[in-house]
Amino acid sequence: MKDLDAFRRWLAGINDLMNAMSVLNWDARVTMPPGGGETRARQLGTLAEVIRERFSSDTTHRLLDAAEKEVATLPDDAYKVRELRQAREALGVLARVPPELSAELVRLGSVAQPIWAEAKANKDFVRFAPSLEKMVSLTRELAEAIGYDAHPYDALLKQYEPGMTAAGLNTLFTELRGSLLPLLKRIQGSPARAPTHIFDQTFPKALQRAFALNIAEQFGFDPNRGRVDESHHPFEISFTRNDVRMTTRYNERYLPGAIFGLFHETGHALYEQNVDPSLTRTVLATDLLGMYAVGGTSFGLHESQSRLWENMVGRSLTFWQNHFGALQATFPDQLSGVDAETFYHAVNDVKPSLIRVEADEVTYNLHIMLRTELELGLMDGTIAVRELPEVWNAKMQDYLGLTPPDDSAGVLQDIHWSHGHIGTFPTYTLGNVMAAQFLEAAKAQVPGLTASLKAADYAPLREWLTENLYRHGRAYTAAELLRRSTGGTLDAGPFTSYLNDKYEALYPER
Ligand code: ZN
Repeated sequence: MKDLDAFRRWLAGINDLMNAMSVLNWDARVTMPPGGGETRARQLGTLAEVIRERFSSDTTHRLLDAAEKEVATLPDDAYKVRELRQAREALGVLARVPPELSAELVRLGSVAQPIWAEAKANKDFVRFAPSLEKMVSLTRELAEAIGYDAHPYDALLKQYEPGMTAAGLNTLFTELRGSLLPLLKRIQGSPARAPTHIFDQTFPKALQRAFALNIAEQFGFDPNRGRVDESHHPFEISFTRNDVRMTTRYNERYLPGAIFGLFHETGHALYEQNVDPSLTRTVLATDLLGMYAVGGTSFGLHESQSRLWENMVGRSLTFWQNHFGALQATFPDQLSGVDAETFYHAVNDVKPSLIRVEADEVTYNLHIMLRTELELGLMDGTIAVRELPEVWNAKMQDYLGLTPPDDSAGVLQDIHWSHGHIGTFPTYTLGNVMAAQFLEAAKAQVPGLTASLKAADYAPLREWLTENLYRHGRAYTAAELLRRSTGGTLDAGPFTSYLNDKYEALYPER
């Protein structure tokens, strides 16, 4: 297939440029001195322009036309068909979105972010509102340009969670809320309390790192094709499957932060490290709409893996029965007199709180629903930016029974809207829901999987995930991967059963 090969060589160069951008991004977030910010933004802007020009060039169109003829008779689910189709769709979107609009969104993102930070520091939403109004109006323009059938939010979801819609989210969230609110009520009525006082001590950073990294490698993280650094906001980013970076943040006065933070990023890293090598530098390891080199197929699917390894494996009783001994040997003074069961409850404390990133597994999704409902309203015009603090606080009271003392602990807490990333919040909850579906399917399909987890052998689970999800890169959508691996569609059932079983045991009724 010489035309397909020619297209792939051309695309590989574009993927290389995107990976170079990712290296510059990683550096900006991990090692760059603050003074480098302005020139770094220019470097990234120039590279983004070069990539966009290359990808939308006549050369791409000519090579793609020829390659499409070569694969015309192949079956629909062949990788070759899928990579060309994705390239064709991305070219279509690119042609519909005016370059000035994309540039304006990027520019506004860099201007709005420090304004948001200042507004947050001063607990002053009014200061951020004009920037957010501009951001919402540009994002609505973007949605119109991308195109949608039912709701402008659908256009945004195409970028982050292809196949998902506002209507689909509404159905899922209504069902979830129907289970989460009664569970939370029951937990709050239980006399049980998580023994979180055991964290009220100093846990030296180097020892936290050693423990967490050892577990990451037991999960299957390959340090020969990745590394771990520190950053204020933990993240994972890959420069192909052969160089996958994770970061975490250590707080010597709060042990769970770095440990579970690293388990979370390890889930993302396992996905990237296990994409099939044949997909490296192809469309199927490239987000052509986001102009970003990544192997995972969607935000939600990526998040399903971080949450599966962090929460469903790493926060399980089985896990701590296996590994608490090693943690105790790492911190003999701090953890003397504590047992695995006590520690397990301490890391699964459920308590409504104001801040999303500090939320537990049960209340987390209520934080996401609140944000998603606000975003839907902003996009269809039923909520105005100036009403946000009021709507936020009312929903916070409805879902969690709390009212923020100020907007810094309320509507201003997340960075997302200042970047212009409207449409990403729901993918966190989609990740939780899909993670439970995948784990349930793996347990049903792999004989002895539960026993292997009990023996701290993570290979069978990782291999099932690799076979069913990771290796395919971006060849299939999340919905297709669900159907292929579980035989079903998106379903809140396994996630709500998982939460009910786990937390009814931790929080018995009085
Ligand atoms: Zn994540």
